[in-house]
Amino acid sequence: MYDTEILKIDERSLELAKKYILSGELVAFPTETVYGLGALATDDGAIRKIYEAKGRPSDNPLIVHVYDGYDIERLVKIGNDYAKRLAKAYIPGPLTMVYKSKGIVSKVATCGLDTVGIRVPSDENAQRFLRAVGVPIAAPSANASKHTSPVTAMHVYEDLKGKIPLILDGGKCAGGIESTVLDVTGETPVILRSGLVTGEMIERIVGNCEYSKNLPTDKARAPGMKYRHYTPKCETALFKRDETEKAKRLYSEYEKAGKRACYLCDNELAEKLDGNKLLLGRTGEEIAANLYDKLHEAEKITDILIAFEVDTGSDIDVGIMNRLTKACDGARFIP
Ligand code: AMP
Ligand code: MG
Repeated sequence: MYDTEILKIDERSLELAKKYILSGELVAFPTETVYGLGALATDDGAIRKIYEAKGRPSDNPLIVHVYDGYDIERLVKIGNDYAKRLAKAYIPGPLTMVYKSKGIVSKVATCGLDTVGIRVPSDENAQRFLRAVGVPIAAPSANASKHTSPVTAMHVYEDLKGKIPLILDGGKCAGGIESTVLDVTGETPVILRSGLVTGEMIERIVGNCEYSKNLPTDKARAPGMKYRHYTPKCETALFKRDETEKAKRLYSEYEKAGKRACYLCDNELAEKLDGNKLLLGRTGEEIAANLYDKLHEAEKITDILIAFEVDTGSDIDVGIMNRLTKACDGARFIP
C-alpha cells in the first residue's frame, strides 16, 4: 500500500516523479487526452505494476510516451515515408503511431508483439514530466480497467489510491478522449482506435487510410458487444436521437420506483427533455472534451444514466460513439 500523494506540477514534484520512475515505481500524469499511468518503458518489473494496479488484461499493449524532440528511431523502425509526413502534421498531439519495434521497449509493455505504439503528447505538463524523467514512459489510461477514463487528478485518485505513490496534478485534460491509434507498418495506414485525429485528417496527408474491422460501425446502440469499457458505476441505457419518447418512459419508470434518473445528451437534444440532465456541449470537440467528466459525474448523482447517440456531423463523432457505445453496452432495452 502507498500513501498516494497528489502534487501540482513544479520542480520539486517533477524531481520526485523522476526518482520514482527511475526506481521502477508508477507515476500518474496529465496529457491533452486523459491521465496516463506511467512506468519506465524498458523495465519489465515496472510495467507489470501497471497491469496489476489497473487490473488490466495482460494481452492489451501499452503506448510509449516520449518528449518532443526524442529520437524515436532509438526505439522503432520507421518503415514508411507517410509516417514522417503524418508526424510533421499532427505530432506532438493526440495521435499514436504503431511501428516495428527494435526490441528496446519491454515485451511486457508490447505484450510480446513486434510492434510498439509511440505518442508525443502536446500538453505542456505532459512534456514537462517526460523531459524531467528523460526516458520513454509506457502508459495506459490511469483508471481501473474497464472504468471510465480519468480526466482529472481526483478521478485517478478515486481508482488508484493506495496503489501508486504519486499523481501529478495538471488540472482537467483538454481533449477528453484517448489518442487515435494508427498502424503505420503497412503500405496504407490503419486506424486501430478512433480519436481526435480523424480518418479525414489522416487521408488529407497520406491520400488514404483504412479503419480496423474491430471498430463498431453501428453508430447507435450496439447490444451484445463482447466487452465493456469506459463504464461508469451506475446503470446505463443508450438511445438513438429519435427515441426520446422511449427514453422518457424509462426515466419515469425509475422515478416511480423511487430511483434517480439522469439524461446524458448534447445541448440541442436537451431542449426536448425535461428532468435531470448532464449536458455534453454542441460541437464534436466540446462533446469529446466533456464526455468522461460527465460519465464520472453521472455515477455520483444517478442510479441510471440515459444517454443519447451523438451526431454533430463532425468526423470526431466516430471516436465519441466508439467510447459511448462501450460505456453503455449491456444497457437495458425498453421496447
Ligand atoms: P489505453 O492506453 O488503455 O487507452 O490503451 C492503449 C491502446 O493502444 C489499446 O487500444 C491498445 O490496443 C493500443 N496499442 C498499443 N500498442 C499497440 C500495438 N503495438 N499494436 C496495436 N495496438 C496497440
Ligand atoms: Mg484505457
